[in-house]
Amino acid sequence: MKFSKQRELILDTIMKSDIHPTADYIYNSLKKDNPNLSLGTVYRNLAQLVENGFIHKVSMPNQSDRFDKNIKPHAHIICDVCNEVYDIDSSSIKCFINNLSSEHDVDISSYNIVFKGICKSCKKADLKI
Ligand SMILES: [Zn+2]
Ligand SMILES: [Zn+2]
Repeated sequence: MKFSKQRELILDTIMKSDIHPTADYIYNSLKKDNPNLSLGTVYRNLAQLVENGFIHKVSMPNQSDRFDKNIKPHAHIICDVCNEVYDIDSSSIKCFINNLSSEHDVDISSYNIVFKGICKSCKKADLKI
């Protein structure tokens, strides 16, 4: 895949970010230094980066898609309080997937699991009140 300058910037933004950014977030963070960039270009480049396996798209229920630099299979939790998305990469998920595969005699190649709840830092903040 040929990398345009804009595509490189978009990929770079995702790689540097730990927050599973949305297309809007990427657009807004690049817009200042790249006034020619349009939201449409961001969407188009994101789609191509996903298609070529550089990043993953994480679909969120009733929310904008998030983009993920971590392309290994993992689940997510979205916090009801701060709306942050965190990776859940635990052996219990792998176990669960393996069990599902054998119980239903299927090969699972990918999955999109999003838990909802309250994250560690919001739980801590709540305790302080
Ligand atoms: Zn939170
Ligand atoms: Zn992730």
